[in-house]
Amino acid sequence: MAARNCPECGGLVASTINVCPHCGYQLEDELNHKNSTQNRTRGENPYNSIAWSIISLIFCWPFGLVSIIYCLKSDSSWCSGDDFSARHYGKTSILWAKIPLWILLGILCFVFLIAILSVVFA
Ligand SMILES: [Zn+2]
Repeated sequence: MAARNCPECGGLVASTINVCPHCGYQLEDELNHKNSTQNRTRGENPYNSIAWSIISLIFCWPFGLVSIIYCLKSDSSWCSGDDFSARHYGKTSILWAKIPLWILLGILCFVFLIAILSVVFA
């Protein structure tokens, strides 16, 4: 049976159990905790949304392009550790992405209204 050393007391612990029998140290939790902390430090940028930028690029590419530029700016700020700029650019990116969607929604509502009026007054 494979075994490893407990990082807390140095005692030998079987690989099948997650708690050190010598000191009660949580071996598996420690491992997971380290991984999640590393991911959180500089993993995904939470402030921007490439999905929004792509949707906007499909509906109205000039707005989508501006959105993607801000999205990339946000990512580079995030990678250099500048959270404030990352959030600012991310918000701007999502704002630009949503403008064409609101315009599209407005047009759809207008068309729908005209259709209803033409049925009612026909
Ligand atoms: Zn131990």
